[in-house]
Amino acid sequence: MRRCRGGGSIGRPFWTPLQPQRRCVPAGPPPRTPHPASIGALILHVIATPIGNLDDLSPRALQCLAEADLVCAEDTRHTQQLLAAKGLKRPMLALHEHNESAQVETVLARLRAGESVALVSDAGTPLISDPGFRLVQAARAAGLKVSPVPGPCAAIAALSVAGLPSDRFAFEGFLPAKSGARRERLQGLLGEPRTLVFYESSHRILECLEDAAAVFGDARRAVIARELTKLFETVLDGSLPQLVATLRADPNQQRGEFVLMIEGAPADADAALREGQRIFAVLREHLPASKAAKLAAELSGAPRKALYAAVSAE
Ligand code: SAM
Repeated sequence: MRRCRGGGSIGRPFWTPLQPQRRCVPAGPPPRTPHPASIGALILHVIATPIGNLDDLSPRALQCLAEADLVCAEDTRHTQQLLAAKGLKRPMLALHEHNESAQVETVLARLRAGESVALVSDAGTPLISDPGFRLVQAARAAGLKVSPVPGPCAAIAALSVAGLPSDRFAFEGFLPAKSGARRERLQGLLGEPRTLVFYESSHRILECLEDAAAVFGDARRAVIARELTKLFETVLDGSLPQLVATLRADPNQQRGEFVLMIEGAPADADAALREGQRIFAVLREHLPASKAAKLAAELSGAPRKALYAAVSAE
């Protein structure tokens, strides 16, 4: 069994740490916690890695990586830097959205041969807007053990500091890249009562906020969590038009990685939308869609656009 060499120099992190980096692993192997899912072969460990601060790699994640016969990584160069920062070097296999299907059988064969395999993505939890779904699905279908090594996830980290209701939330991942499709997706979410959670990159955060402001108006509270656990971590809240104004005024606030959260619809809006959809379904049997949507909106109080969006999504 391979052990973490531990104690190596962390060097220059490829993430910008919030705090000066401290060595998080004492020299020698990390302490072992006897847990059946953390040791042994024939297990695919799905391992969460830091979203910014290297110290967020858990001791068990480090142990599983140290003991893995094979590390499946979204970008092997990226993961190589993480491993090097922790004093590790492991055999790696690239597994990303373009080759995942082709790699699945190779990985399953290694697992069946008794090897221990780790799956990581570039940052955060694999499969959460990241590769890994096909591999995990195939491993489970083949009766192989798949075990999580939980840890950082940008959506959960953002929700934990947003101050928006988090008892129920709807994770929507990335919105479509084109404005028309994005607005349509947002309109379909107008009646959603749970807190909405989106991922967004620096290229599109401003236009995404502008579209959200156009669709949701100024009545909803929204929060953007930027560069979590990194040097320029910022959490901004306000109405959507206020957030648009803040980002327009300060281009630095458009840089980095973002989680956008929008307060869910009030309970009565959800009820109005459902009632509007019901009326619309009846009326459109007898009237043109535009006329049916107009009347259904008037009778129910639901926004006409939302009725259209709900129907076109059917
Ligand atoms: N699997 C990852 C997870 O568990 O969070 C998400 C991967 S997804 C490809 C990358 C997106 O996650 C970024 O575009 C951004 O929306 C969000 N993200 C990742 N790191 C972040 C951070 N430090 N702060 C804010 N958002 C982040």
